[in-house]
Amino acid sequence: MMENDSPRHVVTRFAPSPTGRLHIGHGWSALQAHDFARENAGTFLLRIEDTDVTRCRPEFTEGIYEDLRWLGIGWDGLMIQSTRFDAYEQALDRLKASGVVYPCFCTRGDIARELAASLHAPHGADGPLYPGTCRALSPDERAARIAAGDPHSWRLDMGAALARTGPLAWQDDFAGTVPVEPDALGDLIIKGRDRPASYHLAVVVDDAAQGVTHVIRGRDVFASTHAHRTLQALLGLPSPRYRHHRLIVDAAGKRLAKRADGLSLAELRDQGLSGPALAEDLRAGRFPVGIRVEAS
Ligand code: GLU
Repeated sequence: MMENDSPRHVVTRFAPSPTGRLHIGHGWSALQAHDFARENAGTFLLRIEDTDVTRCRPEFTEGIYEDLRWLGIGWDGLMIQSTRFDAYEQALDRLKASGVVYPCFCTRGDIARELAASLHAPHGADGPLYPGTCRALSPDERAARIAAGDPHSWRLDMGAALARTGPLAWQDDFAGTVPVEPDALGDLIIKGRDRPASYHLAVVVDDAAQGVTHVIRGRDVFASTHAHRTLQALLGLPSPRYRHHRLIVDAAGKRLAKRADGLSLAELRDQGLSGPALAEDLRAGRFPVGIRVEAS
């Protein structure tokens, strides 16, 4: 049999940000990624997404380890994004060299004023799209402002990116073949002013570095995949298969927040619940009173 005919070794991951304690929805998501790997004799990896140094805290990272172990979830490898800043910088350098990113000097206030002045500001999945002000700067202006030390972020020029890659799509277990739309997120930030990399850039670089074949994560980040697929194509990285699962909501139909009262895994443990028993309930679709899976 030729090598290409052999089934791919399945690699999944759970990639939480340590900005608070995990809640039951995180537990449910982690179980899905974990169980899919186990069912396929694959590998399940954990990745701590702590690039936002102002919001992430070491005690929440410890909490993630503790909560997963409590549920009975073991991982076969661990990656910590705060140790990977060089890799993100190299990826950004490659994007700069191919001319698909530009420095953006706008503050939030600048963008709000620009949007308020425009009659038909286009909206994407996360709200109004960046109006493109800094895309219009000349190479000389950009260089001069960078040399002058003007604070700036880096944005992906989606138009230039897709002109370079041609039409793109990703494969999603629930949504099928999803074509990448430039206006889903517009010219998104791939490196913030005070951050080594945006979530988008770090995820793409690390899913490839960890050899992830199946990204199983919540629907709340579905739209981000428009950016992720584009960055994969620009950086010459493989595109995993995606499964964006439904989210867990409370009685009012609201998604659980990190501070979800009484529903953090730590609180459930403190109430005397057994982690493995909770994991079995979640697998069987039995949720504690007051929470459920959102309607499709
Ligand atoms: N760190 C992201 C989050 O916690 C992960 C999303 C992903 O799995 O790509 O929402």
